[in-house]
Amino acid sequence: MPESKRNRSAESRRRFLKRTAAAIAGLPLYTAAVARAAPARRESVLVVGAGLAGLVAAHRLREAGKRVTLIEARERPGGRVRTLRGFFDEGIYGELGAARVAETHEYVLHWINDLRLALVPFAPDSGSSVMAVGGKRARSDVAAGEKLVAGLHPDERNLPVPELLRKYVSGVPDELGAGDVNLADPRWRAYDRLTWPAWLASQGASPAAIRLIMLGGDSSEFSALFMLQQIMLHRDSRQYFKIDGGMDRLPRGIAASAGVPIRYNCRLTKLESTDREVRAYCLNGGHTDVIAADRAVLALPYSMLRKVALVSPFSPEKMEVIDRLTYFDATRFLLQTATRFWTIEGLNGSARTDGPADIWDMSFGQRGKTGLISLTTGDDRIEDQLIKLPDTGQTAFGVRLASAAFPAMTTQTGKSFLQIWGEDPFAGGAFSVFKPGEMTAWAETMGKSEGRIHFAGEHLSPWNGWMEGALWSGERVAQEIIAA
Ligand SMILES: Cc1cc2nc3c(=O)[nH]c(=O)nc-3n(C[C@H](O)[C@H](O)[C@H](O)COP(=O)(O)OP(=O)(O)OC[C@H]3O[C@@H](n4cnc5c(N)ncnc54)[C@H](O)[C@@H]3O)c2cc1C
Repeated sequence: MPESKRNRSAESRRRFLKRTAAAIAGLPLYTAAVARAAPARRESVLVVGAGLAGLVAAHRLREAGKRVTLIEARERPGGRVRTLRGFFDEGIYGELGAARVAETHEYVLHWINDLRLALVPFAPDSGSSVMAVGGKRARSDVAAGEKLVAGLHPDERNLPVPELLRKYVSGVPDELGAGDVNLADPRWRAYDRLTWPAWLASQGASPAAIRLIMLGGDSSEFSALFMLQQIMLHRDSRQYFKIDGGMDRLPRGIAASAGVPIRYNCRLTKLESTDREVRAYCLNGGHTDVIAADRAVLALPYSMLRKVALVSPFSPEKMEVIDRLTYFDATRFLLQTATRFWTIEGLNGSARTDGPADIWDMSFGQRGKTGLISLTTGDDRIEDQLIKLPDTGQTAFGVRLASAAFPAMTTQTGKSFLQIWGEDPFAGGAFSVFKPGEMTAWAETMGKSEGRIHFAGEHLSPWNGWMEGALWSGERVAQEIIAA
């Protein structure tokens, strides 16, 4: 790395770490309250799911003196945080799930600090990204939009996509970006009535501008409120980072420090709850274990809870949310390339296309000559097509999507790996998303406890689809049980 660039990135890292320390100092962590509240009787709590939410809940409850049992259907902790190692040449590893940490994600930063993990920049601070629409591609500079789509309004021309977005969301109240916003408040209903593209159109955006704003992923059916909340939560996140050595170091670190043994390969299949106890039936290989506890935390996605036999059903409102919550069907391709050819062209390896595909250089910062392109795509139609294809056909599908942005992918791609999250037996989708009307209607029911059963997971937080949300909800549920 040239000296000037090394200094720049060292400087930006110093600034980042300084801000991180400040953020952590101001973080309203539940830890202190949890640690002080030593109960008179050692209540037992069963936590289901060793993803980030379940791990943090188990950790905090154990700290507070509870007798905690943690069960997990997989053979590893971390759920949707999964790092693929030992597969690609030159020791290059890739992320199949969570890949980025936003500078405003205070709960993630707290744990990274606590576990003494290091953050490195997610992407280079030089080089252009690419946009591809309708078979045309352009570097994402000011005039890219006009080169790719016809029909931008005069005041939309010459605006890079982030500016275009800012133009239309500038009137949205800041409060929507607060973690404790009350979405049951009737004032949010107007945003929840429309889909994201319909809301943008209602603000005066041209169809061409909407097309550009929506590049990278299919958000056409999402509630505008859902999209706007994500935008407002991340409006101050200018830099993104990744964990040096792989994202799974975070859940593995929390699992190691939680002080709670994890019972792996233990899948919750049936749940009974009375006013005195909870009984969980956990399928472990060929036999079923029955685990009794005073309370349970269900830290598994609602897409998975749907498959658990509930002997004592929850309230009709809760059952409706569990049955209907949508999980986005993201598919991640990891495509190893012979070289990092994009750097020679002055590109940074990232792109957004109408495939739709969200692409970036996952080999950035890793040693070696080969590259690793990450491509995330998603909608039901793509998933349906993919699962019918043989392995070679699936790779070809990913390469074709990537070549819309980087034509050299057709000759550069070697090894590839594919994770279809909708087909994952213990995730049932990538992350929770909301359609019009759901967020405001479900706001009070989503995470509410039902008798001795409590709920946690990214889906029950404002940060849907982020590790931050999973950690936040794990802390929240622990506090709820301690206060009960
Ligand atoms: C493609 C993709 C990209 C992402 N990108 C990012 C990103 O860049 N940055 C970011 O911060 N976040 C990202 N995320 C989101 C992040 O990974 C999740 O929000 C977070 O990991 C969810 O944690 P969780 O504990 O709520 O759920 P999970 O991680 O799903 O944990 C739930 C656990 O429950 C287990 N389980 C399921 N069913 C049962 C059962 N019946 N019995 C027992 N155990 C069961 C599962 O095996 C799992 O371990 C991404 C996710 C995906 C899929």
